[in-house]
Amino acid sequence: MTGSANKSSYREKRLKAKEICCHCCGKKPPFCWKCKCGFSICQDCMQENAWSLSCNGITWQCPDCGKQNELGNQ
Ligand SMILES: [Zn+2]
Ligand SMILES: [Zn+2]
Repeated sequence: MTGSANKSSYREKRLKAKEICCHCCGKKPPFCWKCKCGFSICQDCMQENAWSLSCNGITWQCPDCGKQNELGNQ
């Protein structure tokens, strides 16, 4: 039994384009790292915050959910 209270609005859908923007600087970079929780960060911000996000250069930790993501596998 699943309730069907999930109304989708086409107008809202159009506003929420699937553009990826960095959650740190708000820009829309050609490439950025994404966490499964929806957080994304661009290369510039990743480098700036590498000291806090990535301690080993192999993985980076999502500041939103704390999950470890691989740096190279995107
Ligand atoms: Zn950024
Ligand atoms: Zn996350």
